[in-house]
Amino acid sequence: MSHNKRKKTFNSITELEQNLGNTLNLEENRSFKTKIPKRFIELASTIHLDDPLMKQVLPDVRELSGGNDLDPVNEHRLVNKGLIRKYKGRALLIVTEACPMHCRYCFRREFPYEGNQMNTDNLNRAIRTIKSDKSIIEIILSGGDPLSLSDDKLDHLITRINKLDHIQTLRIHSRYPIADPQRVNSSLLAALKKFTRTIVFVFHINHPNEIDDELIDAALKLKNNNIHLLNQSVLLKGINDNAITLKKLSLKLFDIGINPYYLHLLDEVKGASHFKVETNEAVDIHKQLKGLVSGYLVPKLVKEIVGESSKVTIS
Ligand code: SF4
Repeated sequence: MSHNKRKKTFNSITELEQNLGNTLNLEENRSFKTKIPKRFIELASTIHLDDPLMKQVLPDVRELSGGNDLDPVNEHRLVNKGLIRKYKGRALLIVTEACPMHCRYCFRREFPYEGNQMNTDNLNRAIRTIKSDKSIIEIILSGGDPLSLSDDKLDHLITRINKLDHIQTLRIHSRYPIADPQRVNSSLLAALKKFTRTIVFVFHINHPNEIDDELIDAALKLKNNNIHLLNQSVLLKGINDNAITLKKLSLKLFDIGINPYYLHLLDEVKGASHFKVETNEAVDIHKQLKGLVSGYLVPKLVKEIVGESSKVTIS
């Protein structure tokens, strides 16, 4: 059974304006299409760039001038038919380019999805590569958002991965439950169960306002299926760049069984520079957070530095 196809997003500002019955005066960026989950509109306190949820999804005129790096993390060179091998022991699969929302700060805004889709040929190829390299013990499903795939496709993919005996962990990175918590339904859970070793589900929640009862329900369903829950956030100017907001986020996450894991400095892709928090400021915010909560509620402050063998911890 595939997941619910009912329209749950606004795919242009005009569509959103028609729904709201007023004008927003926002300039759309044609190179990165607008895609706003209805749920974000419901959770926002105001439909304006001042709101921490709206700022993540409404186009901002500053996108048209900020920065020019198309590939801040050097993936365009590394990706090979949808397979990225960046760090030892791990292999990342770009399983789809589709997302339930378009986050304006996304470091894959300019990713060359063409040629890197997980079609049958590319999947066969990736599985052959992983099968022949026993040093790979973890597979990461990424995209786009892996939960954009139908449950049938996920079932097929996960069943194939499960046959690779040396893969101990399947890690899934997703914003889908945040855009549409109902995506975590029984057929998705059945597909996930096809992996019989450890599954780690990494939420990408940036702000405590993204968490409501529906999301809590979705997290619980995953947790009750023995899936490890982690969260990573991006430190974003005007959204979560203060210790009080991060404290609230960590407390809410932990309360529902999600461990705060990474707080990323922005990967400064073209069009996203206005989200950047300078490193010294980030260190300061992180230090303040440490003074407010127990150690296990403090995510690691990290940055991706091209050529390093892992994410770099900033202190
Ligand atoms: S859901 Fe993830 S991949 Fe998709 S736009 Fe947002 S950050 Fe990027």
